[in-house]
Amino acid sequence: MANKKHDVIVVGGGPAGSTTALYLARRGIDVLVIDGRDPIGTPLQCGELVPSNEEMSRLCPKVPDMDDLFQTPDHAICRRVPEMHLVTPSGKRLKYRFEGMVLDRVAHDEALVQRAKSEGAKYLVGTRVKHVESQSVTLSDGRIFEAKVIVGAGGHHDIVRRTGWSEKSLNIPVKFAIKKGVHTEALELHFGAIAPGGYAWVFPKNGSSNIGIGIQPKFARGTSLNILAKQFIDSYSGDLEYEGAGALPMSGTIRSFINGKHVLVGDSAGMVLPSNGAGITIAMIGGRIAGNAIADHLLDGVPLESYEREWKHQMGSVMSRSKRAFALGSILFRLPDRVVDLVFNRLTKPFIWRAVTCRSLFALRV
Ligand SMILES: Cc1cc2nc3c(=O)[nH]c(=O)nc-3n(C[C@H](O)[C@H](O)[C@H](O)COP(=O)(O)OP(=O)(O)OC[C@H]3O[C@@H](n4cnc5c(N)ncnc54)[C@H](O)[C@@H]3O)c2cc1C
Repeated sequence: MANKKHDVIVVGGGPAGSTTALYLARRGIDVLVIDGRDPIGTPLQCGELVPSNEEMSRLCPKVPDMDDLFQTPDHAICRRVPEMHLVTPSGKRLKYRFEGMVLDRVAHDEALVQRAKSEGAKYLVGTRVKHVESQSVTLSDGRIFEAKVIVGAGGHHDIVRRTGWSEKSLNIPVKFAIKKGVHTEALELHFGAIAPGGYAWVFPKNGSSNIGIGIQPKFARGTSLNILAKQFIDSYSGDLEYEGAGALPMSGTIRSFINGKHVLVGDSAGMVLPSNGAGITIAMIGGRIAGNAIADHLLDGVPLESYEREWKHQMGSVMSRSKRAFALGSILFRLPDRVVDLVFNRLTKPFIWRAVTCRSLFALRV
């Protein structure tokens, strides 16, 4: 079978892969995205929360032009919520202004695919990549495709990462459900023994809620995620509309995103902020940087390493602070519930928020 050649092959068409493809295609690069799912984005594996564009500008101040990057269509937004509550084991609430959008994640990912296609990216869906070599990928149906650069955007278990990288990430197991009914008016994150080493969430949609939990199993003293998830999800009334599970890389970005002509982006590179679990928008930030850097490489011979330099410039300090906050949280959320309750108080409130939102803990502005 003749090998089909492209400038770039992107393995995985989620937020990272489709954003990479969008910015490559915009520069006139011939890019093929291959995804095992059809349609991409299904089945749902997500809490579906993203910050608004304005909130993203505050969270990641060095990332330029958020409005070009994030163009979430109205039909992919179930609800805009202006407040986040951090909830302690005894039910005490620390309340913060925070503009979040609870998505229809499937519609969100589909819209991103359409945007990339409209710029000229090609897609091959419903077939998995089962083997990656230096400049070729082999699909499960035996077809072989070649490219000058291969991008691994296949999520936390990405095949390009597994082929060429030995560094391990801390992948945290997560379970969630969509339940009918109105359970909250705010975005809620719950801490304590209900979610050892992690947190549980309740995010309101339209007439339903996305309810889920992520834990660090080593802190759970033998209690399984299944049991903890059932306890938390069952504590909310309403018919179960959907149940899902997945994993999140929570140890931050890996040391290098580039190995020869192989490039990682999104979850496969560890692009999730560990202190709050944000992965969708961070994968898209990485995708734009990767797409532009690969285009610079192919069009002007700029070394691919400019991708890592630009990532560090835009996201390096946010990621470092988020990793530090996660390390602190991992100590705190192992302590008995009564201690967690004591630590969440009016005095610590601004510091806790700064940690969750990856800001410097001791800067003057709160
Ligand atoms: C349960 C759960 C809840 C979450 N909640 C939130 C949240 O509320 N907010 C938030 O910002 N983030 C959340 N995240 C994280 C977020 O979903 C990810 O960070 C984000 O999806 C990363 O995008 P990505 O493109 O790197 O990977 P993915 O979205 O995982 O996309 C990877 C794509 O690659 C494809 N693929 C993988 N391997 C192959 C292969 N070999 N061949 C072909 N295709 C392949 C897959 O089919 C998939 O479409 C959550 C994650 C989980 C698991």
